Amino acid sequence: MLNQEQLTNIDKAKDILMKGGIVACPTETVYGLFASALDDDAVRSIYKIKGRPSRNPLIVHIHDINQARDFCDIDDIQYDTMNKAWNIYNYSVSFVLRMKDNPDVNISKLATSGLETVAVRIPMDPVANAMLKACGIPLVAPSANTSNYLSPTNHDMVVMDLGDKVPLVLDNGSSTRGLESTIIDISSGVYRILRPGVLTYSEIRSNLGINTEEYCATYENIVAPGMMKKHYSPRIPMRINAYDRKPGEALVGFGNSVPDCDFNLSKSGDLHEAARNLYATLKKIEDLGIYISIAISAIPEEGVGIAINDRLRRGSAPSEPADQITIERCKPYV
Ligand code: AMP
Ligand code: MG
Repeated sequence: MLNQEQLTNIDKAKDILMKGGIVACPTETVYGLFASALDDDAVRSIYKIKGRPSRNPLIVHIHDINQARDFCDIDDIQYDTMNKAWNIYNYSVSFVLRMKDNPDVNISKLATSGLETVAVRIPMDPVANAMLKACGIPLVAPSANTSNYLSPTNHDMVVMDLGDKVPLVLDNGSSTRGLESTIIDISSGVYRILRPGVLTYSEIRSNLGINTEEYCATYENIVAPGMMKKHYSPRIPMRINAYDRKPGEALVGFGNSVPDCDFNLSKSGDLHEAARNLYATLKKIEDLGIYISIAISAIPEEGVGIAINDRLRRGSAPSEPADQITIERCKPYV
């Protein structure tokens, strides 16, 4: 149930978005920066506010599968997969589809970086969903943060980072999943996972019924933020698989992994809880200003841990000059 303040803010958001403005809004993965997917200027300002390279395509958000039919080719098998994922299982997953040759609505070429494919997602968060329904048009939404840094999982994280650049930041507490959506390319006969997320490989296999042999988390042709070696980074250095603390480091544990940690992603060793706490914990350490770096203990490489480790590997990778960005593929699933 949405409260009165949320309903009023959704009305305000609609006014802003339909005039080509930008709004930050919660989703269950992370908070997003929303704009009309049909408006070149609005999409351009998203890239500008984030400092995101324009060759990195955005995910187009909708509230109903049939909305995707306006601009994507969707056959019965693809529809069935999307329907199971979004309407039956409430998964936080984005699907990459082929654009229609003659679309009924024109998605900005800036949003897709000129590709012949487009990533689409129905967010499960009720505020995001109601906002999309109120607008009735597809909206692009990358995470509501300065490019390459930590994704925001609550209202205040967005305000601290982009508050002076965005007129309205909607609030629905902490994101319930805490990691960016799983991205699955279903645009050709061979399905590929482009980015792991809270939705695990075994859920994809058993519940979406996708043949596991088709998993191949490689994608050569585009530079995607989710594939960059350096991404999702705190503003201070971070090292992973740590057992102990060096001087000035904040030690982050998981369960009983390190006995005297300063912060624990989940005392009970619950990977879903760790995913929910990950970005806010790293942001808190960054903002406290008393630590020079972060040491984070090993997270089990299973279930949601695969996506947590994917983000931690990228977040702890050494900085690279903008013109020498290395693409790091997700680990192939075996
Ligand atoms: P985010 O930074 O969470 O907005 O991530 C968007 C992700 O979706 C990036 O990794 C993009 O490269 C990916 N993406 C968006 N559109 C496409 C597409 N057409 N094909 C492949 N990946 C895409
Ligand atoms: Mg992002």
